[in-house]
Amino acid sequence: MDSIPVYTLAEGVPYGSAMTAQHFGGDNIKGLMLLQDTQLIETLAHFSRERIPERVVHAQAVGAWGEFEVTHNISEFTDAKFLNKIGKKSKTLLRVSTVGPERGDSDSVRDIRGWGMKIFTEEGNQDWVFNSIPVFFVRDPIKFPSLNRSHKRHPATNLTDPTMFWDFHNNSQEGIHALMHLFSDRGTPRSIRHINAYSGHTYKLVKEDGTFHYVKVHIKTNQGVENLVNDDAVKLAGQAPDCHTADLYQAIAAGNHPSWTVYFQIMKPTDAETYRWNIFDMTKVWPRSDYPLIPVGKLTLNRNPANYFTDVEQAAFSPSNMVPGWAPSADPMLQARMFAYNDAARYRLGVNYQQLPCNRAISPVYCPYQRDGFMTFTDNYGGDPNYVGSNLKPVRFAGATGANGYTLGGHEKWVGQIVGFASQVVDDDFVQPRSFWEVLGKQDGQREHLSYNVACHLSGADPRVQDKALDMFSKVHPSVAEMIQLELENLKNSRA
Ligand code: NDP
Repeated sequence: MDSIPVYTLAEGVPYGSAMTAQHFGGDNIKGLMLLQDTQLIETLAHFSRERIPERVVHAQAVGAWGEFEVTHNISEFTDAKFLNKIGKKSKTLLRVSTVGPERGDSDSVRDIRGWGMKIFTEEGNQDWVFNSIPVFFVRDPIKFPSLNRSHKRHPATNLTDPTMFWDFHNNSQEGIHALMHLFSDRGTPRSIRHINAYSGHTYKLVKEDGTFHYVKVHIKTNQGVENLVNDDAVKLAGQAPDCHTADLYQAIAAGNHPSWTVYFQIMKPTDAETYRWNIFDMTKVWPRSDYPLIPVGKLTLNRNPANYFTDVEQAAFSPSNMVPGWAPSADPMLQARMFAYNDAARYRLGVNYQQLPCNRAISPVYCPYQRDGFMTFTDNYGGDPNYVGSNLKPVRFAGATGANGYTLGGHEKWVGQIVGFASQVVDDDFVQPRSFWEVLGKQDGQREHLSYNVACHLSGADPRVQDKALDMFSKVHPSVAEMIQLELENLKNSRA
């Protein structure tokens, strides 16, 4: 009997029964309820507050625990301790999400997948907040809210709206590369186990002496990339809306632990000055013939969440969580995300979200100038000075390389004038999408699939918007627009 828990109220008080509320009345007729019934009031009040604010993007997700293992020596590029020894393993939490849909929407919808990965290291948390495609739709953060609204619901109809979607992209054509990826079959993955992830942004690998290299990260599935064709994804949305959640949970529960190989592309800073592509432009890749993939490590997922809400819903990831040896680049989207993700967590989870078990660093945390606030549940640094520069209880500073407090050499000295970075779209923006069209051309049916996938979506848009979108695709290559046009006509005829 001792192993059976005694039911209590949330304040720990043992309670008579959770099966009935307190009623007023005689033996046969029971009616009015009593304000003294603490359990009833607490239960009703708590139920109304079970939901926390949903993420405005990346709401629908699946997650699991695992480990990141170093498989190759890259210590010549970075002093990050989690990367400094072959065989070193770090506990990892992975959360993979769709972007536009609300929580509870189907897992199989066409979308890019967000890849939130928290590596718990001896020097604090290293977050890799990546995507399932290597490029992004915009390169100027001022457009980020607009991009996402155009992919979500129309303010009047509350419907997702192809006219709005394409109207945005027609007028922000730097996104054509990401659109090509979204409408390839990789926009509808078979499962989370079968996707890749890419940093998209350029980061820096830093050494203690201040020298650094630029880096892009590629995380490639060891299960092989597998996708759904458009019509199967649409069917699954109705038949098995939780298909990706079920697939990952069941695979891990069965001991079939999925894994990914982590690669870096590494560039010398001086190369960046003359490189063909702006390395701070998130709509561009570094072609692999220029910067080959260097193997670094392996991610394995091996443990399901014990509780979805505490392990996955309360998880908060931010590109600003960087350990010494890892640092931000000047990519404007990265700089903006380094603010926006923490800010979103503060709104959604409260100002002390870093104290939640799924986010708490495994390394010692001593941050006495950030204290109090709603839901502080540490000792709040007791009586330690809450102001900087005290002689009474001195603090040591690491002065290490990395995101915080590092000194970089002369290459990082910026001189220039204030400009609008990204609004101008030029011919060069269509060169890499054209290379991607070439890649698809080498694989049976992939160009046809992309054209059909675009047509299925575009056919719902206003005809003027359709024409402009076709014009945009023709700048990649006339054959892209021609093939989409053909699929649009086929769809029109089949619906007539
Ligand atoms: P490569 O010609 O060396 O390789 C093309 C890459 O495209 C593949 O490695 C694969 O990425 C991805 N790919 C292959 N088939 C498909 C498909 N059916 N649907 C979606 N993606 C596919 O690449 P380059 O570096 O020379 O770049 C050429 C084009 O490839 C780029 O313009 C870009 O659009 C695309 N690409 C480039 C990447 C890069 O970082 N350089 C990454 C991914 C795509 P993976 O091996 O990651 O599965």
